[in-house]
Amino acid sequence: MLVPTPQGREARTTQGRQARAPQRGTVTTPATTAATAEQPADVVARLRAAFRAGRTKPVAWRTDQLRRLRALLTDQGAELAAALHADLGKSSAEAYRTEIDFTVREIDHTLEHLDGWLSPEAAPVPAHLGADARAWTLVEPLGVVLVIAPWNYPAQLLLAPLVGALAAGNAVVVKPSELAPATSAVLARLLPAHLDTGAVAVVEGGVPETTALLAERFDHIFYTGNGAVGRVVMRAAAEHLTPVTLELGGKSPAFVDRDVDLAVVADRLARGKFLNAGQTCVAPDYVLTDPGTAAALEPLLKHAVETLYGADPQSSDAYGRIVNERHFDRLSGLLGSGRVVVGGDGDRADKYIAPTVLADVDPKSPVMQEEIFGPILPIVTVEDLDEAIGFVNDRDKPLALYVFTESDDTRDRIAAETSSGGLGLGLPLAHLTVSDLPFGGVGESGMGSYHGRYSIETFSHRKAVLEKPLS
Ligand code: NAD
Repeated sequence: MLVPTPQGREARTTQGRQARAPQRGTVTTPATTAATAEQPADVVARLRAAFRAGRTKPVAWRTDQLRRLRALLTDQGAELAAALHADLGKSSAEAYRTEIDFTVREIDHTLEHLDGWLSPEAAPVPAHLGADARAWTLVEPLGVVLVIAPWNYPAQLLLAPLVGALAAGNAVVVKPSELAPATSAVLARLLPAHLDTGAVAVVEGGVPETTALLAERFDHIFYTGNGAVGRVVMRAAAEHLTPVTLELGGKSPAFVDRDVDLAVVADRLARGKFLNAGQTCVAPDYVLTDPGTAAALEPLLKHAVETLYGADPQSSDAYGRIVNERHFDRLSGLLGSGRVVVGGDGDRADKYIAPTVLADVDPKSPVMQEEIFGPILPIVTVEDLDEAIGFVNDRDKPLALYVFTESDDTRDRIAAETSSGGLGLGLPLAHLTVSDLPFGGVGESGMGSYHGRYSIETFSHRKAVLEKPLS
């Protein structure tokens, strides 16, 4: 695989400026590769006509689209990586690992299993219908679906749902995040150049453009982002009785038990937390542990940060940047919520906030009120497992819950007595890389799930069929 050389900071700034003028609310067509103004209503009508005509239904069309998307990622991954660097300071290695190769794996897994996932499934028939009756389910595409993506993994979180929507045989409108403008511009150029524009459209833009799209009738809306906008999406969907998948966020706790190898825990926590400068929906939001373990963990977390990013993380190519000044200011305001163990500083001009660990954090402090979504890891102390479980259950259901323990009892109790989108035992983030696991939230962290066969379930209707012979 071709891995591009990481761009320097200067290159990133220049690229970012160049890329910051996407054509808003327009659809790019391959015929001209120029943006042509097409209203959302016209886009949806055009795609709906294509769906009705059966364009997206043949499995051969679906697999062809997936292979074309795969080719885009492998042949032009370097362009995407450069855009991700421009938007978020992502290193090339991180861009490939968490966005480009991630999506390629999702495509490969889907191509390998799609026939099986689409197969009709027989259902047992009750005796009162007679021995000659048969029942089964058929997996059918929904129609025209809308995918709205956020800025933090702006390629992966647009393309992985697109993989599922195409594999399920739908026409698709994708709306990249305007807060990752370089990535949005590259996707708006490359997707129409590779995919069937008769059934796949890219609409760029922010709130006005998304609001206009949401006024249209879709057959499913797949939204990833924050819960406030999730509510906007769900209200708009209700007008048309359109089902939604909401992939939201929240504060994902990491419980650390006594008597575990804290050096391993610190290393895994630091890797999971500071990836993408903490702007990961399933990043460990805060650590929950007893006071003795907290004291022992502090120097190990400091050591882990220094091992990952050196004494000066600002000069490390491996460390990302905060997406914009608004989020920089929000995060800066949280740095005073506890005693600084490591980090604690920032540079607004560079949108840099140091990987930071805060100790002695009061649960009532600002950093504990909302999802942090940045490189700040507070340590909150509890006396024991009962108090930890109570702490989690007193708050919104998280997208992920992480547990570091050697005790089966502790594992079982947390699994049984708490609710979260996913449960990571010993390793943050990794559950979402398992294509055979559903990825999604519960309660405030979202509804519905995707990846692998769960994407097919999300973007399909399972039609019940009963047959009773006439003679
Ligand atoms: P964002 O600001 O990019 O918004 C997401 C999308 O919603 C964008 O495409 C944007 O244009 C659109 N949007 C914004 N305001 C809108 C409005 N008023 N009406 C219609 N559309 C609107 O991203 P964000 O919300 O800041 O993303 C961060 C949040 O997303 C965090 O809470 C994070 O945890 C969550 N997240 C969840 C997942 C997941 O898979 N569950 C993944 C990544 C991020």
